[in-house]
Amino acid sequence: CFFSRLSDNISLNGKRHCSNLEQSYVMPNGVNLIVKQGDLTKFEGDCIVNAANEVMLGGGGVDGAIHRAAGPQLREFCLQHVAASSSGVRCRTGEAKITPGFNLKASYIIHTVGPIFGNVQSPHLLLTSCYKNSLNLAEEQNGKIKTIAFPAISCGVYGYPKEAAMEIALDTCAQHKKRFLTHISFVLFGSDIYAISVNLQIAPARLS
Ligand code: ADP
Repeated sequence: CFFSRLSDNISLNGKRHCSNLEQSYVMPNGVNLIVKQGDLTKFEGDCIVNAANEVMLGGGGVDGAIHRAAGPQLREFCLQHVAASSSGVRCRTGEAKITPGFNLKASYIIHTVGPIFGNVQSPHLLLTSCYKNSLNLAEEQNGKIKTIAFPAISCGVYGYPKEAAMEIALDTCAQHKKRFLTHISFVLFGSDIYAISVNLQIAPARLS
């Protein structure tokens, strides 16, 4: 792997309990990358990223889990403080919006909307924008966000092929120009997507 490995305490054959599955790397940009299996809503850091939909009032999958864990204040905040277009869109595909974390351990939630695979042209560009815009919005909080955790955006009901999606995710994080962020985590729900992610070889050419 292109990354230098800090810890290698996992068994991909599944001997350990899922919640202990974790790998960390230092990326060439100096940011620590942590890939772990678990529940994103339990993340104890500054910010989690939500794989939201364009209406931004809650939905299924990780979005529903985040709204349940954050509490009803999250939906109320989005209704009151995030402007909607005439068609009810608060966050267009590829863009990102920030809200407080309310009842979460994380102080902030960055909501981004991944592409629905097969429904849009250039899904890879839109998925790249999700990660780029989320990281940049985190850096714009003037140091309040140093640690951030992502789910596998678009890899659930939005149907993005998992390996291709995680390659985009990891490459975009590796190319990020760090200001305040020290740690980027991927908190992945399933053992399949976790194994795909830790096995991914990041092509050096993409990091230059
Ligand atoms: P999308 O609509 O962007 O595809 P989904 O929520 O359907 O979003 O799925 C995105 C990914 O989040 C999937 O890999 C799914 O298994 C995962 N996921 C669902 N719930 C959680 C959770 N609580 N923590 C972390 N990941 C989750």
